[in-house]
Amino acid sequence: MDFSYAPEDEEFRSELLSWLNANLPDFLDQGEIGPPQWDSTRRTMQRRQAWQRRLNEGGWAAINWPREWGGREATIMQNVIYSQEMAQAKTPGIYNANGIWQIGPMILRWGTDEQKHQWLPGIINADCHWCQGFSEPQAGSDLANLRTAAVRDGEVYVLNGQKIWISTAHLAKWGLFLVRTDPDAISRGTKHEGITALIVDMEAPGIECRPIRDVTGESLFNEVFFTDAPVSVAYRLGDEGRGWEVAMGTLGHERVGTAGLAIGLKAELDTMIASTRDHNPGALCDPDIRDRVARAWTQIELTRLLNVRALSKVLKGEKTWPEVPLAKLQWSFLSQTLAELNVDMLGPLGVLGMGGPDAVDGGHAVYNYPWQRYTSIGAGATEVQKNIIADRAIQLPRR
Ligand SMILES: Cc1cc2nc3c(=O)[nH]c(=O)nc-3n(C[C@H](O)[C@H](O)[C@H](O)COP(=O)(O)OP(=O)(O)OC[C@H]3O[C@@H](n4cnc5c(N)ncnc54)[C@H](O)[C@@H]3O)c2cc1C
Repeated sequence: MDFSYAPEDEEFRSELLSWLNANLPDFLDQGEIGPPQWDSTRRTMQRRQAWQRRLNEGGWAAINWPREWGGREATIMQNVIYSQEMAQAKTPGIYNANGIWQIGPMILRWGTDEQKHQWLPGIINADCHWCQGFSEPQAGSDLANLRTAAVRDGEVYVLNGQKIWISTAHLAKWGLFLVRTDPDAISRGTKHEGITALIVDMEAPGIECRPIRDVTGESLFNEVFFTDAPVSVAYRLGDEGRGWEVAMGTLGHERVGTAGLAIGLKAELDTMIASTRDHNPGALCDPDIRDRVARAWTQIELTRLLNVRALSKVLKGEKTWPEVPLAKLQWSFLSQTLAELNVDMLGPLGVLGMGGPDAVDGGHAVYNYPWQRYTSIGAGATEVQKNIIADRAIQLPRR
């Protein structure tokens, strides 16, 4: 693979870096946003909204979108550069990550002109928050088993059923939901058929969000209950029964997004070392800690090279297994490894809770330790990724 970048890619990088230099320090100086009585999820969301708006002002919120909708029509290499530089600069998260990377591209591909005008400007400018409602109690890894019923009645679908683990649904105005319009498809053995994608106004009657307290003590995700909830047929994305295709057709957008992961992990390790130097320097002389830091560093470098190999295959139009499922496994393994190491490196200070006056980095380590468990469940559970590798890459025989 040729590791050099084309002149237009370097130009893209330098434009991005000069925008970041002009905007990021100033934004970070503003510190916390929102009234003190808000919980940390709400305060984080407020900050993300302000950051996404700032990105959008500079034309950096949705680089993959068409120019007419505020994007830059970025190439694969430009996506890689963007993901690397944002990770390196440790930029804040954005308000509508789902909206920018998944739902927006779905609307662009499948939406009518009216739908595009109704929703795309609000997604890119973070005017209102969007959630993504796929999972159900019996449909997680086996998503096509979903059963939330949508029955057409004139110009509305009437929804009944339950979703679960829907991130920030309680803060969202809109959501993209997968529902079942053909209840017999599962018993026919064709469960990927008969699924429809609907855009749901989360404030409509018959919809109840119940936040679930997660392992960190926060309430990020929700159960969402539908009881005779009407959703206009005009809010359907794509044809009835084609929801699987609508939802899966845009997942390719995630593939190159992994390019920045190793850089983000390396930046996290650098921060951990600097913080330990400041707060618990003796730990850096401990042979066990030194060994774990060196192993983590080596694994991060291997992951970076794995991503480069995946990218090379993407550019050649080749299939990206086993690299992509392996990179997902590496990401979850390393995120959890670093979270555990961080607590141990900081010693007694590492377990001081969030908000405490002596907590290091606002108590990041003790929050992050349980939080990173999600990386082996979300975006494809570990066992499922291993099945993909066994099946497609190693082609182990099936029993
Ligand atoms: C932080 C977080 C945020 C989330 N946000 C959203 C959201 O916004 N919207 C949304 O729709 N969903 C969301 N989810 C849900 C997520 O998509 C599901 O948790 C995920 O798909 C796994 O499904 P599940 O929880 O039902 O677990 P299951 O699929 O039931 O898996 C349970 C266990 O069984 C294993 N397993 C499952 N199938 C197999 C198999 N075939 N072979 C071997 N082992 C198997 C899994 O690896 C896992 O260990 C979120 C989850 C988390 C953790």
